[in-house]
Amino acid sequence: RLEIRNIHCSFDDRPVVDNVSLTVQAGQVTCLLGPSGCGKSTTLRIIAGVEMQDAGEIYVDGKLICDTVYRVPPERREIGLMFQDFALFPHLSVADNVAFGLKGTRAEKRARVTELLEKVSLSQYIDEFPHQLSGGEQQRVALARALAPRPRIMLMDEPFSGLDNRLRDGIRDETLSLLKDEDTAVLLVTHEPEEAMRMADQIALMRGGRIIQQGAPYNVYTNPVDRAAVAFFSDVN
Ligand code: ATP
Ligand code: MG
Repeated sequence: RLEIRNIHCSFDDRPVVDNVSLTVQAGQVTCLLGPSGCGKSTTLRIIAGVEMQDAGEIYVDGKLICDTVYRVPPERREIGLMFQDFALFPHLSVADNVAFGLKGTRAEKRARVTELLEKVSLSQYIDEFPHQLSGGEQQRVALARALAPRPRIMLMDEPFSGLDNRLRDGIRDETLSLLKDEDTAVLLVTHEPEEAMRMADQIALMRGGRIIQQGAPYNVYTNPVDRAAVAFFSDVN
């Protein structure tokens, strides 16, 4: 479970993340939805530990991992990351990409890699290199790599936006079922309402650094807080 409380972050005295609080339960997907520049990626970077908040606390499974004094470094937060420019290591095989960052014996690592590549249906590519794979296949390797260390939390920043429409739906569904399988708490950033409606258990609508509405997708969609929220959702059907 991921909990962030009253997170605040300013750049040059301009608040970019303004008193944001969120909870994401294990095995659930919360979509952070909002227009360009509203602070979605900054919120994710703060949770990942690569950006520092001016105020507020972050908890993973009830344990404090970051406030303004105490700070667990990014690599020990049990948080997986998947961003749009997911960049696999080009000089490493698919297997070594997925195994990167795994601890344990060679046999243990191999077992985990094999398990995950089966789940994303890419077992036959285990010894290939990234440039030999399509964009969609690379995306699935990136997902396997992010999940390999069994993170409690997965942060995803528009991970599907680089894919063509034909591939996207399939990969969304596959990603979702894999994340549910692993009981991961997922915070997914998107600016596409349709993606949020499809994938989210909870939607948090963000604007100008603040969360202006939060709830189950159907409730947010049918009870928009204001006209701008209506307009934002109007291209979903
Ligand atoms: P998009 O949908 O376009 O990705 P976003 O919601 O992810 O937008 P952020 O990347 O979080 O938006 O940026 C929010 C605002 O904060 C922007 O105005 C951006 O210019 C500003 N910003 C982000 N990082 C920094 C930084 N390190 N220094 C100064 N300003 C920053
Ligand atoms: Mg962004």
